[in-house]
Amino acid sequence: MQSEKPDYDAVVVGSGPNGLAAAIVMQQQGLQVLLIEGKDAIGGGMRTAELTLPGFKHDICSAIHPMAAGSPFFKTLPLQRYGLEWLQPDVDAAHPLDDGTAAVLTRSVEQTARSLGIDGQTYTNLLKPIVRDWPLLAPDLLGPLSFPKHPLKLAGFGLSAIQPSTMLARKFKTTAGRALLAGMAAHSIQPLTNIATSAIALVLMANGHLGGWVIPKGGSQSIADALARYFRSLGGHIQTGTYVSTLHQLPSARAVLFDVTPKQLLQIAGHKFSSVYKCQLKRYRYGDGVFKMDWALDAPIPFTADACRRAGTVHIGGTLEEIAAGEQASANGKHADKPYVLLAQQSIFDATRAPASKHTAWAYCHVPNGSKKDMTAIIESQIERFAPGFKERILAKHTFNTEQLQEHNPNYIGGDINGGIIDIGQLFTRPALRISPYKTSAKGIYICSSSTPPGGGVHGMSGYHSAKKALSEIWNIHV
Ligand SMILES: Cc1cc2nc3c(=O)[nH]c(=O)nc-3n(C[C@H](O)[C@H](O)[C@H](O)COP(=O)(O)OP(=O)(O)OC[C@H]3O[C@@H](n4cnc5c(N)ncnc54)[C@H](O)[C@@H]3O)c2cc1C
Repeated sequence: MQSEKPDYDAVVVGSGPNGLAAAIVMQQQGLQVLLIEGKDAIGGGMRTAELTLPGFKHDICSAIHPMAAGSPFFKTLPLQRYGLEWLQPDVDAAHPLDDGTAAVLTRSVEQTARSLGIDGQTYTNLLKPIVRDWPLLAPDLLGPLSFPKHPLKLAGFGLSAIQPSTMLARKFKTTAGRALLAGMAAHSIQPLTNIATSAIALVLMANGHLGGWVIPKGGSQSIADALARYFRSLGGHIQTGTYVSTLHQLPSARAVLFDVTPKQLLQIAGHKFSSVYKCQLKRYRYGDGVFKMDWALDAPIPFTADACRRAGTVHIGGTLEEIAAGEQASANGKHADKPYVLLAQQSIFDATRAPASKHTAWAYCHVPNGSKKDMTAIIESQIERFAPGFKERILAKHTFNTEQLQEHNPNYIGGDINGGIIDIGQLFTRPALRISPYKTSAKGIYICSSSTPPGGGVHGMSGYHSAKKALSEIWNIHV
């Protein structure tokens, strides 16, 4: 891998948000960086394609982007100049209930609190301090475990965040308040009785009040394209269609950063690692998978609750108890009859997604890792439950089971979209308990994917921290 005069200063393998972020951080320092992607298209989890009918653009993976809009690293980049436009839905997220009403998350803490009635004050007490302190909390929460920069603020957040979400939800008295929290916490893809599942709910809600649950115009591919254009404008090189199975395929470089998960890293570079590190990576745990669906529709989804018709994201699954039971079922290796379904309806806010007067919808539910079960009928029935007439509006549909998702992106092991379970055991120490989680035991080899802190989602912070580590260790550059 290393010669007297390397071909490149650094090579990054994988062009997901973290690979692109890592490549940009190093190229910004004037290094020569090559980004290699196994697929023909760049973007990893940020790709958009006509999966159903011509003219209908579907986000294959990521769709809704509170973490991208709020990413401390992405915010420093001139992505708007490179074609990225964020669209703000009227309602960030809505959560329908069987009585025809819906709980909502909007940009304003006050408006969200008001919609929760007697739970409004509880909501304000919980969220207002997090939203206010977010600029101080973000560096600690969106990076590796280290001595906190603002220990008191972090402790305040931690008191609520460390709780299982089933426990925190009981602060709310109404079905709507409890369901809203459960729908947010279920993004963690694990039993809601797990410690710290509240952290994910609180971070997502706070980011809804900060940058919003925004949608990129044209699809999530636009985020990838803007990052890639900016990287190239700095002089960076991108090579697609090169799946890396061994280190011998790589040009020489002083540092190689892998936007892959531990399983692939072991296959590619395992022979370079110490036996302790290899053992740690082998013990790394993957979480539940997802079954993903996309629809071409001849009209918007006819949700009973008005707020759902105006929402970018809809959390379907009913009450706290129902959602908790569904998440527990998939963690137990079962398929829930009435699962939590995460649904997005981008075309309502972005006319570029579908032909005139037509629409798209995107959804997934959680299933056991590696599941091959077709969840189409179950997901569609859950939507129909809160939107009678939905099925009649379907023009075409497309599905991915866990195996097909992994084929689409080798980082989704068994359909796990977070690059490994984000439970308390792997929250900050992913992929291994080390002083720096981004550094492998081999000199010059780093990991930068969502299998490192802060974990899944489109935010680029894993790539940013990994590249910072490589810059300081190899070039003595401190950014
Ligand atoms: C169905 C679904 C819905 C999601 N929804 C959202 C959402 O709404 N909002 C959100 O923020 N996040 C969402 N996510 C999660 C998000 O997409 C991921 O967390 C994020 O993309 C992870 O970024 P990454 O850079 O670590 O890896 P990835 O985006 O997975 O990129 C890894 C890249 O590396 C390439 N690669 C892997 N191995 C090799 C190899 N050996 N050689 C060459 N190339 C290789 C892959 O082809 C891929 O392009 C969703 C994911 C899925 C699947």
